Amino acid sequence: MDRDGVERVRVTVSSPFRLGIFRGIPIFLHWSLAIIFVLLAWSIASGFSPEAYPDLGAGAQWLIGAITAALYIASILAHELGHAIIAQRLGVEVKRITLLVFGGIAELGSESDTARAELRIAAAGPAVSFVLAAVFLLLGLLATAVDQPVIQAPLVYLGVANLLLAVFNLIPGYPLDGGRILRAVVWQRTGSKDRANVRATQSGQIVGFAFFTIAVFLILQGQFLSGLWLLAIGWFIQGNSGLVGAQSGMNALLNEVTTHQAMDDHVQMVSSRQMIRQIVDERVLGMGERFFVVTDEGVPRGILSLTDIVRTPRERWDWVPANQAMVPWTRVVAVGPDTPLTEALQVMTERGVSQVPVVRDGRPVGVLSREMIINNLRLRAELKTGVDRATLQRQRASSPR
Ligand SMILES: [Zn+2]
Repeated sequence: MDRDGVERVRVTVSSPFRLGIFRGIPIFLHWSLAIIFVLLAWSIASGFSPEAYPDLGAGAQWLIGAITAALYIASILAHELGHAIIAQRLGVEVKRITLLVFGGIAELGSESDTARAELRIAAAGPAVSFVLAAVFLLLGLLATAVDQPVIQAPLVYLGVANLLLAVFNLIPGYPLDGGRILRAVVWQRTGSKDRANVRATQSGQIVGFAFFTIAVFLILQGQFLSGLWLLAIGWFIQGNSGLVGAQSGMNALLNEVTTHQAMDDHVQMVSSRQMIRQIVDERVLGMGERFFVVTDEGVPRGILSLTDIVRTPRERWDWVPANQAMVPWTRVVAVGPDTPLTEALQVMTERGVSQVPVVRDGRPVGVLSREMIINNLRLRAELKTGVDRATLQRQRASSPR
């Protein structure tokens, strides 16, 4: 599944502005950052009261404000580059970086192979933010010591902003870094990536819901701007937390089903000395069968599929027996009845076959094809949606108006 290169977070951004390329990674700015830039510059510039800073003109105030705002956006970029550099070092491709209002997103081309790698990539961003916070706060202290109040305030501001950036991103709700760390930890502890994905999705839903609740509360209190902010963040988290679930959903479904639940336990046998022509006429055209176990007095000798039959020139069908066209038993790819469907599907994909015999103790007990897997999946998915829909309707019916 990981080889499909599932994008972990997909952001639908309205034509983001491309800032540049770093180590082959295109970096984009979301338009909302422009608003933040102005807001930040303004709040810093207006923070200089004329009484405390009588010598500072409006131009200088705005300049300091703009520089501080630019440094904040650079801090967000540094946070994302922290993720990106570690990801690249661990062999995970970084597709692009998008800087948003409340942080950024480093879109990865594939998933980490190990929980450890996932943990390191997720932790790298907040680590950078913590380091930046420490540096800015130290510089702020230094500015106080050498009596430079004009740059002291912006430095402290940047220190606190980076600290908040680190702490906010550590909230354990996927797709925030904290949610990714949670996923890595569950993955490490249980050894199951699917279970970790489920936890990560849940964490995102819970945190997103918490943001919504607080947002509604703030809006009811009349704090519209803060409320809308949290609403946007909650929306983002909840909207993206489902992606990890969707990509793992099929895997989880396939993992809980074993081969014998999906296979056809009717094994079609042909005798090894039967001629191809007879098999085609009686079994393939006559009965619609397409996959045979070739036996010799009950002992399996090989597999004869439609592919093997087609490979044999038509004019030789009259005198070529099954055992000359078959794949010998020793080279046959088989699965056991207890093999999870994920594994069976992987085996089929790797060997480029569309069906395999199911074998127990050297005896064929069934046949499993890709079609059977898909059918089984579809059935299960439909049953599950049916349940979900029913639950939803019941909830809707009982909810007060
Ligand atoms: Zn991050």
